Amino acid sequence: MTNMEAEIITIGTELLLGEIVDTNTRTIARALRDIGLDLYRTATVGDNVERIAQAVQESIERAQAVITTGGLGPTVDDPTRQAIAQAVHTTLEFRPELWEQIRAHYTRYDREPSENSRQMAFIPHGAIPIANPVGTAPAFIVETEHSAIISLPGVPAELRVLLEQEVIPYLQRRLQLKDVIKTRILRTAGVGESWVDEQIADLERLSNPTVGLAAHPGRVDIRITAKGEDADKVQERIAEMEDVIRQRVGEYIFGTDEETLEGAVSELLQSSDSKLVTIESGTEGLITRLLTESCASFESGEILPDIPNIEDLEQILESTIQNHGVDVGIGIRVQPEEDLTKVDLVVRRGDDMICFTRTYGGPPEYAPYWAASHALEILRKQLIS
Ligand code: ATP
Repeated sequence: MTNMEAEIITIGTELLLGEIVDTNTRTIARALRDIGLDLYRTATVGDNVERIAQAVQESIERAQAVITTGGLGPTVDDPTRQAIAQAVHTTLEFRPELWEQIRAHYTRYDREPSENSRQMAFIPHGAIPIANPVGTAPAFIVETEHSAIISLPGVPAELRVLLEQEVIPYLQRRLQLKDVIKTRILRTAGVGESWVDEQIADLERLSNPTVGLAAHPGRVDIRITAKGEDADKVQERIAEMEDVIRQRVGEYIFGTDEETLEGAVSELLQSSDSKLVTIESGTEGLITRLLTESCASFESGEILPDIPNIEDLEQILESTIQNHGVDVGIGIRVQPEEDLTKVDLVVRRGDDMICFTRTYGGPPEYAPYWAASHALEILRKQLIS
């Protein structure tokens, strides 16, 4: 069989107008990635029967699975049911069993279904209904000779449940997908993307596993992805690649997958029984915010409007450390200067103090993140040395 692919069509004029952010595409894309079903295109269409029907017709020409979200509600102008019927040249039919489910749903909440809600019991002729245990609108699948159109509700929580419980198992069966795809992210800080790239460029050219980079201010993620039919073997491939990468850039890796730099520093502070104070200027309180959320050992954070230079920053940090009777402190000063942003950092743990000044050439609004990442990475190194 040729390579299988899927397409996603999100439906809703409010998506096109930017009134709501399309999170459904991302949810579906990730679920497809995990079962190894390729996704090359996604589209968003407004609440218009003709345009939805046309988009669906185009997608089923190319893809073996087309997933739509939204437009399944109870009003006459919820367009998806009608559009799918039109796309496959059929009509809507009333399905008494769906009407029963819809009525039962309303009864559970002690309500009478409105006359409009009968609309939801009409689905394209021959469609396979998907019961919706978490909402009212039934979802459905229309199978064609070469494709399957799967229409799901727009509400993200409903979508997630139906996707996981019904749609993914259905796609695996129908398209005979056997591969599992696994991903591991190694998170680094304190080094630039180009440096990391130089260290592992040869690995980035491999195909299974693949290795790719994603840069954030002051941090670089290394993503390892492997696929295969045997989940243990896939995991092994990832682990082997992780070892190779750690040999090359391991000292900059602060965590994996969902771990954060703040979290890593927080754990180290706790295990060394240390408390931390911070002083910051020109950062809109970023470091205080990050640490308040994630760090139990965070003693105090001062946000000062203007600190003239790095010597003053050092002195203020020094006296704050003494006043609070702690042994760890971070001082950050971010100052815009012509085209660049100047960043002063002072990081102190006991007698070990590191001060430096750097210029940051990226967008000025990212400078506080860059500075916070560097300061936390320096502290992390001090805490593990
Ligand atoms: P319902 O069964 O609740 O009527 P529906 O299938 O008719 O659902 P819509 O009316 O299109 O879905 O959307 C319902 C709500 O779900 C929207 O108001 C919006 O908040 C959210 N939503 C819809 N599409 C998306 C999307 N692509 N990403 C994120 N949220 C969405």
